[in-house]
Amino acid sequence: MTRHRDNTKYMNSVCYRMLGVEQSWTLEAYESMGGYRVWRQIIAKQTPPEVLLKEIKSAVLRGRGGAGFSTGIKMSFISASSPTPRYLVCNSDEGEPGTCKDTLILQFNPHQLIEGMLIACYAQGLSVAYNYLRGEFMHHYQRCQQALEEAMSHGLCGDDILGSDIGIQIYNVLGAGSYIVGEETAMLNSLEGRRGVPRIKPPFPAQKGLYGKPTTVNNTETLASLPVIIEKGADWFLNVGTQKSGGTKIFCISGHVQKPGVFEMPLGTPFATLLEMAGGIKEGRQLKAVIPGGSSMKVLKADEIINLTMDYESLQSAGSGIGSGGVIVMDDSTCMVETLVCISHFYKMESCGQCTPCREGSGWVWRVLNRICQGQGRLDDLPKLMSIAAQVEGRTICAFGEAFSWPVQSFIEKFYDEFEYFILHKKSMITGVSGGVGGYE
Ligand code: SF4
Repeated sequence: MTRHRDNTKYMNSVCYRMLGVEQSWTLEAYESMGGYRVWRQIIAKQTPPEVLLKEIKSAVLRGRGGAGFSTGIKMSFISASSPTPRYLVCNSDEGEPGTCKDTLILQFNPHQLIEGMLIACYAQGLSVAYNYLRGEFMHHYQRCQQALEEAMSHGLCGDDILGSDIGIQIYNVLGAGSYIVGEETAMLNSLEGRRGVPRIKPPFPAQKGLYGKPTTVNNTETLASLPVIIEKGADWFLNVGTQKSGGTKIFCISGHVQKPGVFEMPLGTPFATLLEMAGGIKEGRQLKAVIPGGSSMKVLKADEIINLTMDYESLQSAGSGIGSGGVIVMDDSTCMVETLVCISHFYKMESCGQCTPCREGSGWVWRVLNRICQGQGRLDDLPKLMSIAAQVEGRTICAFGEAFSWPVQSFIEKFYDEFEYFILHKKSMITGVSGGVGGYE
């Protein structure tokens, strides 16, 4: 569905609304822009939690981490009769290749994240929250820690919040630098001091999460959206996005564009508008393909995406997904064989190794692709790669199996001629050379 309106009107209107404000990460700056007003009202009026949950559900806020599950429904899984203590975990382990959106929230708008975490805890009756940041985010961790200390010293969180008898403890935790702890149950293991590997589900975190207690895990962008939803109302938020998914989404545009960058835009913004905002394709080049939601989403050819809008439904109907919002743009100088071997190397290195199909399959895929790139491919390699990917998909503990299978399936299916050419001519159809990614191992 193409929207006939000026989408830039809502640019940076939710999670990035503090960008450009001087010292935006301080409490003073945040409060000067109306920050914590919602939270103060909730505490003063003792707003019933179900009122907040209803608003969040009506806003149709879908999880911004990648899966896109309804946040309001997820929050409803924990009820008043659930065992205590109950926990909230904010997933700030941003690690999907092509994605760099939460980093700006953590650096420049940490108070809005804290306010969002407080609202989420209050709405679900949770008393302890952890903000789990990826290991490389040392500077972000310090910013979040500074903001948390400010909020606590002003009575906004901790014990007896703003003179009430409500207590919510928030902690920032720095991870150790692993891609797979971005998976929610791996993150819970890591928080408990265990090896950060995904758990078998069920039980799901809402039943048995952190320390075996009911836990909700939400993404940073999701939680930072809550203060705006409560302040402006579900109708406003829904109207910004599409009727099936409200609000804005942060898109990280990288690759062969003139001005790569991070843009918070309404869901439903045309891809062509986003491309234009990123300065368009590099001089003298043509758009070839786009991975629209981080490296684990299926690639789309230029003609498949150019007329699409950027929202959950539209990208799904095109056979891909909005994922984490990492939009990787490729022009016609891109060799798809070499690109896929780079992606598959990443997944081979990051598999946690628990499941045989993933551990062995990811290495096998990379070895076959790397052999093709070194000019030693065989024509039966292509059906073999498709077969391995198909056998891994849906047969693993976590979605990592799909994450490394989908790129393989979509690249070979859509750019078969390039793979075939590489095998027959022992060099790339695009660059004219072979062994382009040799030397990894
Ligand atoms: Fe680990 Fe891969 Fe299994 Fe996920 S699918 S649990 S990353 S081995």
